Amino acid sequence: MKTRLQDKVRERPLLGDGAMGTQLMIAGLEQGNCGEAWNLTHPERVLAIQRRYAQAGSDCIITNTFGGSRIMLNRHGQVDRVAEINRAGVEIARAAFGDREGWVLGDIGPFGGLMEPYGDFTEDQVRKAFVEQARALVGAGADALIIETQTSLEELLLAIEAAKEAGAPCIIGSMAYDVTLDGSTFRTMMGIDPERAAAFMVEHGADIVALNCGTGMDMERARQAVERYRRTTSLPVMAQPNAGLPKLVDMKVVYDETPEQMVRGVVPLLESGVAIIGACCGSTPDHIRAFRQAIDQHFDRHGSHLAVGSRKTD
Ligand SMILES: [Zn+2]
Repeated sequence: MKTRLQDKVRERPLLGDGAMGTQLMIAGLEQGNCGEAWNLTHPERVLAIQRRYAQAGSDCIITNTFGGSRIMLNRHGQVDRVAEINRAGVEIARAAFGDREGWVLGDIGPFGGLMEPYGDFTEDQVRKAFVEQARALVGAGADALIIETQTSLEELLLAIEAAKEAGAPCIIGSMAYDVTLDGSTFRTMMGIDPERAAAFMVEHGADIVALNCGTGMDMERARQAVERYRRTTSLPVMAQPNAGLPKLVDMKVVYDETPEQMVRGVVPLLESGVAIIGACCGSTPDHIRAFRQAIDQHFDRHGSHLAVGSRKTD
């Protein structure tokens, strides 16, 4: 039987993948259209993107289902295809690995609104939407569920519970932190810091604690988050920072750190004990290929004593 992701990462750190949204745009998706529906209408384009990540060396590929909950898909008139879209997302990511060993992480993004009393959605609606999506992803054979870009513990909890109910083999909770205006620290939009998030995830049975995206979360900030997580929990930690800091170009936010710039942060992340390194906004297969080389070189040089869970001592 395949090693569970949370056990595999204790042998050696794994490489995740890079951004999907921007890659879909390059492949022809128009802004505001439903990228997840492409799992059914243009599966070959989604596969081509994920295959490039697999060929660049990703050990883990995240399904193209970030907005695949009923509440998100409803905005695109795709609510009848929730199960199909999520199932296809897992099948495409699996196919991207070909014969190679790889872990498919079923992606659950935020439901995209606010719950009562601040917004229009009831807790029950959100819970049902997450359970439906989680069941489709796990039913299609996802090796883990990654609950990404989370800012509130209430929503995170509903998704963790949904993942458990679906029988997910591994549950990853991934928070989106924003660097504070004075630059001194970072917390989620809802005011959650890494220590609180990690303790919450331990309490509620996540298997891996993670961070992705956020404002100002580059490789160095990700390293700081990993250290803070590791001081709070012994669970494996995953980091998916953005390709540098956001810049405004033609009224659009872009992340343009090159692979050469971003890869400098890989060794510090490994030394802080990260278990899975991927990347978020602005990253490409070229970034992931550079990460692969840096990770492999590092371990050729230092051997396995730097494996996750142990500290560098020399
Ligand atoms: Zn991002």
